[in-house]
Amino acid sequence: MIKHNKHLDNVPVYKPGKPIEEVQREYNLDEVIKLASNENPYGCSLFVKKAVENEAVHLNRYPDGGAYYLRKKLASFLSVGEDEIIFGNGSNEILDMIARVFLNPDSEALMFQGSFIVYKIVSMLQGAKVKEVSLENNFQRDLNRLLDAITENTSVVFIDNPCNPTGVANFKDEFDEFIQKLPDHVLLVLDEAYFEYAKQHNVPDGINYVRPINPKIPKKNVIITRTFSKAYGLAGLRIGYGVANKDIISKLEKVRQPFNTNRLAQVAALEALKDQAFVKFSVDMNEKQKEYLYEELEKLGICYIPSYANFIMFKSPREDLYERLLEKGISIRPAFGFDGYLRVSVGTPEENEKFVKTLKEIL
Ligand code: PMP
Repeated sequence: MIKHNKHLDNVPVYKPGKPIEEVQREYNLDEVIKLASNENPYGCSLFVKKAVENEAVHLNRYPDGGAYYLRKKLASFLSVGEDEIIFGNGSNEILDMIARVFLNPDSEALMFQGSFIVYKIVSMLQGAKVKEVSLENNFQRDLNRLLDAITENTSVVFIDNPCNPTGVANFKDEFDEFIQKLPDHVLLVLDEAYFEYAKQHNVPDGINYVRPINPKIPKKNVIITRTFSKAYGLAGLRIGYGVANKDIISKLEKVRQPFNTNRLAQVAALEALKDQAFVKFSVDMNEKQKEYLYEELEKLGICYIPSYANFIMFKSPREDLYERLLEKGISIRPAFGFDGYLRVSVGTPEENEKFVKTLKEIL
């Protein structure tokens, strides 16, 4: 018998939102609306498409593993050093690298109950003990509870802000205080996958904890992870990044695969960054459409959790709603970790109207 890594045995398998093609095949449907993976329903910047086309002639050559041009642009966009950034094949890969570098069977990973499931997966694969801190009423999260749960074995604290799948966020004041009290032996992973959607709502800009503007907040061990998969609309290309001090980044670089971000992803991310008008359009539309969905859910008497991201978690009014929607060509998702709840991504006006119409038909 071959022997495998014994830490694998209890690791949950990540279940992504069903791809459109899969739903079409399974349910014999021509048209499917996917509101299952918090993607940007408006596509991506038009400049990206042109850059990807131009880059396609170089596909026979390996990419630049260091992502020279993208790094320069992002460093200037974020006002951080070029050596304070690491790129990943999606921010998921950065989470994986963090676990590989900072967790082992003697250490603990701390997170809130129901956080993004990948934290648990990557921590368990390292054999680390996963400790989950319970939530308050209405899925709120008390950062002091995390502080109380830190022990001398705690190596990494993961926080998704906002949280996937609840959409709940913690605010700048709470984080400022939390960071000040964070012990020096702990690395805080602040996952800001939905930052562009949330930033207008007084959530912290986590990068400020890497290059503190506020001198009262001492430098702590913090890494911010962000992605081009959401507001920038590049989920299919797989590119995300981490920002931390250069000591943390240089450790992570040791476990990064040589060509982890591909040529198309690098040029696409560079162009996407330049087109902030597209990001603003996407974020503004998301806010308006979220309001529309709130109103319609309220009219149907469905209980939802106000969200700071581009998705909404709601209590399913019937057990088979997820399947019934799928049969009718609407793909949403069970909210992982919250039995009886579903999560719908905010789509275009047409997609959302179709979702609401189908919801009414089923109910
Ligand atoms: N963090 C959170 C909270 C997410 O919801 C996601 C995507 N579902 C990710 C990280 C990873 O995104 P990506 O790998 O596409 O950058």
